[in-house]
Formats: sequence, structure tokens, C-alpha cells
Amino acid sequence: MLRPAIKYDLQIKHGNEYGPREEAAIIQVLRQGAPTSGVACQRFEQEFAAYCGTRYARVVSNGTAALFLSLLAAGVTRGDRVLTTPITWIATAAAAVTLGAEVDFIDIDPVTFNLDPEKLKYKITANTKAVIPVHLYGQCCDMEPILEMAEKSGFAVIEDACHAIGGEYKGRKAGSMGIAGCFSFHEQKNISTLGEGGMVVTNDPAIYERFSLYRSHCTRVYGESTKYCRLDESKQPMGKRFWFQDFDDVGYNFRMTDMQAAVGSIQLTRLDTFNQRRIENAAYLTEGLKDVPGLTLPEVMSGNKHVFHLYPVLIDSNVYGMSRDDFIYAMLYKKGIKVGTHYIPIHLSRAFISRGFRKGQFPVAEAAAERLVTLPVNPRQSREALDYLIESIISLAC
Ligand SMILES: *Cc1c(COP(=O)(O)O)cnc(C)c1O
Repeated sequence: MLRPAIKYDLQIKHGNEYGPREEAAIIQVLRQGAPTSGVACQRFEQEFAAYCGTRYARVVSNGTAALFLSLLAAGVTRGDRVLTTPITWIATAAAAVTLGAEVDFIDIDPVTFNLDPEKLKYKITANTKAVIPVHLYGQCCDMEPILEMAEKSGFAVIEDACHAIGGEYKGRKAGSMGIAGCFSFHEQKNISTLGEGGMVVTNDPAIYERFSLYRSHCTRVYGESTKYCRLDESKQPMGKRFWFQDFDDVGYNFRMTDMQAAVGSIQLTRLDTFNQRRIENAAYLTEGLKDVPGLTLPEVMSGNKHVFHLYPVLIDSNVYGMSRDDFIYAMLYKKGIKVGTHYIPIHLSRAFISRGFRKGQFPVAEAAAERLVTLPVNPRQSREALDYLIESIISLAC
């Protein structure tokens, strides 16, 4: 008999775990008044930058804010062109649209489901300001050709590494290769900061300064001891004014709280262990499903560390004996397992149909999305749960 807890684990979407260390950190910050953007945020930033091997990191309120801030820092503005993949969470494309940019998509590679650098080539125009590769499901895009094109054409590469915290491409960490890397600590991601959270990383001091300014209303404190000293002695009351505040521009409030950051620091120490469990769970699924006719299982490209945010499977309905939609239905109502569809192609959402996109423009993405399901591989899943998942999939095949 299957324990009810297993079915529960196979139905919830978030796989991250909190333990006594996170609890203790929360209590500690609470007793310090639970501030925003204090020492815990600074510490989390330093630790995260060190983990990614980047010079700088800045915590933000979520992954969408991370993308928005990165585009802003790269100078993307009204009328600029931003390219990304149609198979992603809408936030990737939405961040560019809300900045007034014109978004276009690049069709995907049918094996990795990541944007296809070969097709990117033909989409670059003079006003292409930024390209956002998304490291989908935890596997990095083929970054070398993208970075080469960026060098030649002068667009900014902003990595959406929300699925790939801890992922690697040829020894380089996801998020560390472009001018900016964006992370999310939403409850479904590989680590979480109490349900919401995000991070931007960069090696570029000018980009980092823009992150810092625009994250918090472009506030700058001027004073005697800073390089921004703008003291005008004649205007000083009693000839003395040690500091004053000014705003360089209008910005936003994308700050994170110390309570979240303190939890983030602990989650970061557990990230590699969590990811290892995801990798092992994925290998176990691959072993268990490899002989099921009509299923295409994920491939890890050589040189990549795939951190399996999700485990994507393509279903060939003629061979497997059931369409993708019937499979999702049967898994839920006959087996009690929730499998996902990540994602509906963004260009076919009402938000982008109304911006002029239509079916047929990105055929590889559209064909994959019709046959794709994602299976849970998060660290919460026990061997017993994975066995039940595998048996269920086998028993539904014709
Ligand atoms: C989660 C996610 C985001 C957005 O992150 P939020 O923290 O939810 O705002 C962006 N892109 C991808 C690929 C994601 O999975």
C-alpha cells in the first residue's frame, strides 16, 4: 500500500525543504526587528556572488524584478528589441514588454528545448539590445555561440537562470556568463527564500551600480566621506552638513527582507545537496522509463551540469497509446499524480497574440509544447514515490 504522504509529495509543486537551521535564522532576525535590506541581505549577496563566481550580487524581491532590473541596467528602453525563447515562464518576456521594448522570440532546439543559437543568428537586427537565454529545466543554453554573436553585434546577454541555480556550462556557473544573471527563489525553485525572492549577479561595476540604484528608488546619500560629495559650503547650515539624500532618477522598490535573506544563506549551503538529489532522482527516472515506448527522455548535453529543476518528457501519442492531455488527466485521476506542462508557448498566450504573434511562427516550440509533460524530481521525492511514478507511467502505456 502506498503511504498517503507519497501521493501528497507527488501532487505539491514545491520541492524545497526548510529545517531547524532556517527556523533558528528566522527567530534570530525576528528578534533583531526583522529589518529590510540589512546585514543578512549583504551577507547573502556576498555568499551568492562567491558561489556563482561573479564579482557582485544584489538581492531583489523576485525573479521578475531581477529580469526587469537587468534589462534596465543594460539600457533597454522604449523601442529596443529584446529576443528570448517562447518556451519559458511569461516573466522572461513580460519584463521586457513592461519596459516598452519590442519582444520577439527565437525557436528552440528540439532536444534541449532551449533557444537555438542557429536561429538566433537570423533574428538579430540593428536595434536588438538584449537577448535573454533561459536555462530551461536546469540545463544551460549553448552559451558559446550566443556570447560570440553578442560580442560581434553588441547586444547584451541577460541570463534567465531561474531554473538553473547551481547549473553549469563548461565549468561556468549559470548566470555568470552574460552581463547579468537572474535568479528566482520562488517556492518552486531549487532553493527558496520563504516563497518569494530573487538575485541579480554581474561582473560589471557599472551594471552593479545601476542594480543598486534602481532597486531602491535611485537613492544616493551624499556626504563628506563619499565620492559623491556634492557639498556646497555656502548652502550648509552653520557651514556643516555631513550628508544629504538625493535621487538620481525615478526607480523602484525591489528590496528583499533580512528574514528572507537569512533563510537564503542557509538554503545556499544546502543547494548542492538538493541539486545532487535532483540529479539522482532524474537518473532514477531515466533508468525506470528508458524502455517505455513512445517517450523521449531528457538528454544532458556534454559539458553541462543539469540541475533538473524539472524532468521533461515528450510523449508520442501514436506509440505510447495516449495523447499528452489524456496522459495528464489519467495520471491525476487514476494515479493521483500531478504532472506539469511547462510551458504553453508564450507567443500563443493572449498577451502576445494581442501583440501580433500567431500560431505557426515557432514550429519546433509549438510541436514540443503539444507533447511535453514535466515530472517531479525535487528532493522531496523518495525512491518509493519515484517507483510509484514510474509504475504509473508504465501501466498507462498501451
Ligand atoms: C520563476 C521564473 C521566473 C520569475 O521568477 P519569479 O520569482 O516568480 O518572479 C522567470 N523566469 C523563469 C524561467 C522562471 O521559472
